[in-house]
Amino acid sequence: MDIRIGHGYDVHALAEGLRLVLCGVEIEHSKGCVAHSDGDVAIHAICDAMLGALALGDIGKLFPDTDQQYKGIDSTVLLKHVVELVKSNGYSISNIDCTIAMQRPKLRPHIDTMRARLSEVVGIAVDRISVKATTTERLGFEGREEGVSTTAVVLLMKA
Ligand code: MG
Repeated sequence: MDIRIGHGYDVHALAEGLRLVLCGVEIEHSKGCVAHSDGDVAIHAICDAMLGALALGDIGKLFPDTDQQYKGIDSTVLLKHVVELVKSNGYSISNIDCTIAMQRPKLRPHIDTMRARLSEVVGIAVDRISVKATTTERLGFEGREEGVSTTAVVLLMKA
């Protein structure tokens, strides 16, 4: 059996008055992620996990933030592109697990919407997609509400 595991990690700073988009879902909040794209830190970590499993580098290599065509881009478009790379390399996605670290707002009410959106974008069943959220007990940049981080793990199987 040919299986591959990949890990991803991403951080974005938070600033007042920006949109907060996580796993392709816009969440009502006073702050959003500072970014060249829509700042979907969760999708960026998931993309990096897939690219890591394939040893194809990272999202910054694939979609440089110096490239104007990615300015303000919906990160689900980037994720779809990475999923196509997974397929063209002969793999399918077994499951995704990610953890978003953010002090506020409470993400629990949005978790199932985020899982459903990822299921749509990635094209795998929702019960193969886990989205978890944690505060950092007010410690660190996440706890001070200066930023948000996400870690993600994916498993790929040779199709
Ligand atoms: Mg990012």
